[in-house]
Amino acid sequence: MSIKSFHPPQRILMGPGPSDVSPRVLEAMSRPTLGHLDPVFVAMMDEMKTLLKYAFKTDNELTMPVSAPGSAGMETCFVNLVEPGDKVIVCQNGVFGGRMKENVERCGGTAVMVQDDWGRAVDPQKLEDALKAHPDAKIVAFVHAETSTGAQSDAKTLVEIAHKHGCLAIVDAVTSLGGTPLKVDEWKIDAIYSGTQKCLSSTPGLSPVSFSAAALDKVKNRKTKVQSWFMDLNLVMAYWGGSTKRAYHHTAPINALYGLHESLVILQEEGIENSWARHQRNHLALRAGLEAMGLSFVVPEADRLPQLNAISIPDGVDEAAVRSLLLSDYSLEIGAGLGAMAGKVWRIGLMGHASNPRNIRTCLAALDDVLGRMNAPIQRGVAVAAANKKLAG
Ligand SMILES: *Cc1c(COP(=O)(O)O)cnc(C)c1O
Repeated sequence: MSIKSFHPPQRILMGPGPSDVSPRVLEAMSRPTLGHLDPVFVAMMDEMKTLLKYAFKTDNELTMPVSAPGSAGMETCFVNLVEPGDKVIVCQNGVFGGRMKENVERCGGTAVMVQDDWGRAVDPQKLEDALKAHPDAKIVAFVHAETSTGAQSDAKTLVEIAHKHGCLAIVDAVTSLGGTPLKVDEWKIDAIYSGTQKCLSSTPGLSPVSFSAAALDKVKNRKTKVQSWFMDLNLVMAYWGGSTKRAYHHTAPINALYGLHESLVILQEEGIENSWARHQRNHLALRAGLEAMGLSFVVPEADRLPQLNAISIPDGVDEAAVRSLLLSDYSLEIGAGLGAMAGKVWRIGLMGHASNPRNIRTCLAALDDVLGRMNAPIQRGVAVAAANKKLAG
């Protein structure tokens, strides 16, 4: 055997996630592994819950990271809250809403789909109409920040409508947490899941979730057992739960949790409102550069997500060739289109640690060079200056 240690290259990650991970997070993850019931580790878990409550702006007791990626946070919400026969209204305006439908159906529920255009926010009126047409619906589910298109929806209004019709609300905040305003308690969200590799800039593989008292009530009073043993919150809480003695459920990903803890400490040091403002400021600078170059956004301004910029591909440009040159010549990753938008857009992420002026300038200069070499119809030599002007305020 001649296989040697794996040494990945240093990239700049400006796609839809994972985003650049802070060296502080990577260093934290290299610290000594503890036993998962070690009292020192258990004390760290308590801090983790406090830090996550800060990030989600909630006092929900049941706030913790699921030991698996964002998709498992999604499943945790659905398998615990949807019982066979339950009707769930799913608002879809991109790829991830489609996965919610899959989840509902695999739980034995019925999904009523409310479709909106990709690249637009969910229309509250359509949700209202669907709830009037389906008074027996029990849950409303939607994606706050659609990473597949770069559109954000008005979570507060959608949750209000759900509650007015007696439904619980499940919200996907995988891309929104840390990057754009999100207030779980103030907006009365019942169940929410996120991810670590987007605006929290930790490594992939964990999914912070939070459940309101009303949601927890539903989980505790189910008529049927949760179909997933691993994600059954009634069991998981024996390990992550409040004051009672911790008992083994599964071996927590100890070092990954050190990383998440550190990234949340970084968020707390910056202040979450400051983090939201930084994402918005940097989005506007990137936008100034892209528009100066002649590139255009897919999502109308009012619905745009600051941490995920979906850009139309100029006529005649081989979009995959552009991405591969950015990777080979600049070690820079941007995202391709997903689902219905495959081949039509690039997705430029400005998430967490990666949302900074240096990355904006690098990305704009690299696009200028690579698109210029391909004779794409762009304005050359102006993008970085336009971004600089915006950054200078
Ligand atoms: C990335 C993402 C997910 C899935 O998260 P994974 O960590 O890849 O499983 C779900 N929803 C949205 C909106 C996302 O952006």
